[in-house]
Amino acid sequence: MGYRYPFLDLYKVNNMYIGRIKEAAERVICSGRYVGGHEVEAMERALAVACGVPDAYVVGVSSGLDALRLALRSYMHLGRLAPGDEVIVPANTYIATVLAVTDCGLVPVMVEPDVLTMNIDTSLIEGAVTPRTRAVMPVHLYGRVVWDGMLMDTVRRHNLLVIEDNAQAIGATAPVAGFNGSHISGTLGHAGAFSFYPTKNVGAMGEAGAVLTFDTQLAETLRAMRNYGQSRQYHNELQGYNCRLDPLQAAIVALKLPELEFENSSRRAIAGVYDCMIDNPYVSKPIYDGTGISVWHQYVVRVKDRDRFRDYMAGNGVETAVHYPVPPHKQACYPDMNILEFPVAENIARECVSLPVSRCTTLSDAEDISMIINKYRHG
Ligand SMILES: *Cc1c(COP(=O)(O)O)cnc(C)c1O
Repeated sequence: MGYRYPFLDLYKVNNMYIGRIKEAAERVICSGRYVGGHEVEAMERALAVACGVPDAYVVGVSSGLDALRLALRSYMHLGRLAPGDEVIVPANTYIATVLAVTDCGLVPVMVEPDVLTMNIDTSLIEGAVTPRTRAVMPVHLYGRVVWDGMLMDTVRRHNLLVIEDNAQAIGATAPVAGFNGSHISGTLGHAGAFSFYPTKNVGAMGEAGAVLTFDTQLAETLRAMRNYGQSRQYHNELQGYNCRLDPLQAAIVALKLPELEFENSSRRAIAGVYDCMIDNPYVSKPIYDGTGISVWHQYVVRVKDRDRFRDYMAGNGVETAVHYPVPPHKQACYPDMNILEFPVAENIARECVSLPVSRCTTLSDAEDISMIINKYRHG
């Protein structure tokens, strides 16, 4: 153990905030309020501001999965979705996207990714629409925004809801404005789900998430939904959940949000080094753009003989990761989907390797890692 270039060191990631985190923790501990309250409200406002949409509603919840789940449940309550309705999702995603859909009794319809962006291929969405399709959940995977005119046209033509899974792309910028006129990921569709899981670009020290929307009714329903379905105490208008956010996590997230640009730009700088320096015919780099379309939650290369490559990297002190080795439709929890075939997604699952890109990786580490990669020889 003890990699010279670790994939991620969460203590180090938090270390630059540690004084303020301790201060926030002490404030919450001494406040006597341990669920909800003004710390949560302050975080909700800070997220709207960080996303450049101070007028949007933000509802803090217990995790990214709960953000997705409650958004769907709230739309069901409002009559916009019904059990059995189809929701288009990417075949290449973290399973949470799909779990949220099936948890609500909705039917996930998977669409292949574009092999270059590894995000849902927006040109294939129209072909996946059926008379039962009611929503699309674009996932800005690895920090790269997926948003274009084609997606918007399909959505308008069929009057679909768009619930963005923005767990990996906080602060990323879309090339085209969304339905609300803004360009920031998570504000483009009708609702955006955020995760503050500790490994994300902005991480709590536990579980935390949020939904962002411009829809007053949806925001009200979400607020009730996260709190047992009550509109005021002991008056339960809907069958809700306990998906509340605690003020300790809220305070930690709130103090990090103003540093979002800094967090993302340091990842961009590392991605820039990799893009510039990695030069090996056996290693396919992700599309690089200097424009901020990606916030590089992961820097994912593709290598044919992945295990051999990862062993080689480990032998040279570089810890790597795989996001993700098994696509959702091949997971044991979805036996009925196992027969489906999405060759592009399956190929990405076989070949993808994530390189260190967090703030505990320095630019000179990234140069070293690039040179190690360039010496890799296949077979
Ligand atoms: C992390 C993640 C989630 C879930 O977030 P949690 O806070 O871990 O529940 C959902 N979708 C994607 C794409 C993610 O990366």
